[in-house]
Amino acid sequence: MLLFTTVAEYRTQRADWRGKTVALVPTMGALHEGHQALIRKAGTLADVVVVSIFVNPLQFGPQEDLAAYPRPREQDLAICEQLGVDAVFYPSPLEMYPDGQDSLTRVVPPATMTERFCGAFRPGHFEGVATVVLKLFSIIQPDFAIFGEKDAQQLAIIQKMVRDLNLPVRIVPHPTLRDGRGLALSSRNQYLKAPQEQEAALCLSQILVGAQQALKAAEAPLPAEETLVRLQDAVLSPWQTGPVSVRVQYLAAVDAVTFQPTAWLKPGVRVLVAAYVNQVRLIDNCLLS
Ligand code: AMP
Repeated sequence: MLLFTTVAEYRTQRADWRGKTVALVPTMGALHEGHQALIRKAGTLADVVVVSIFVNPLQFGPQEDLAAYPRPREQDLAICEQLGVDAVFYPSPLEMYPDGQDSLTRVVPPATMTERFCGAFRPGHFEGVATVVLKLFSIIQPDFAIFGEKDAQQLAIIQKMVRDLNLPVRIVPHPTLRDGRGLALSSRNQYLKAPQEQEAALCLSQILVGAQQALKAAEAPLPAEETLVRLQDAVLSPWQTGPVSVRVQYLAAVDAVTFQPTAWLKPGVRVLVAAYVNQVRLIDNCLLS
């Protein structure tokens, strides 16, 4: 497996791959089974698989966990090696932002897609994501890039960027990987230390499963707000008194492509949830069928 820490070294190798197809899996490391599924998918799409590992400072707010974000470098490289990854791009912040961040040229996704949900609670986050992803596309020059549906707003924003800027890359979404109890895998799950916190984290997927079941049972569109509030109250009620606090930050139904809120739960609509379990912020979503 090749390891590149500079753009120049990677570029030399990319020239040797001319004529081959390249699939990129962009990550921030701390690779879990969700990332690994994306990497395996990449292997089915292209001749060459490149994984990027970069904890992107641009997408973290001042109060967020940039310094504390896990960086198990050797473990991540071993996972990539084991999965048969051809190359890992592992740049430093200085390599990615040699002129610093203050005077950087940035990608600004449309406000209609960033002003709600994660974007509303994480100002500048999606600007940071779109900027680094465009940079990675331009450095790695992939034919395919695989993104998890776990981060559905991010996925929709990147698909829009690729359409709007005519980027020569095909975005391949990958379904969310979950543990045996339904918890969406995330690098942040390791912050859930106490067993009761891990139990409480299941609230997110329970609300989503409830929405899907309610729709199936009704067999007709359901009023989104009323249904979601009812589900939220039912799922959260056991946690109202007890040692673990569960606080929903947003719960909403959106059009899966435009990310605009919809009034009705019906097949094709995406339900989104973000919640704090004590201090740990988790997100999840599902596409209703
Ligand atoms: P991250 O390292 O958190 O930036 O994630 C890198 C990529 O992995 C993104 O495209 C995520 O959407 C995707 N991803 C993270 N968790 C999961 C999961 N549980 N299932 C599928 N994809 C995931």
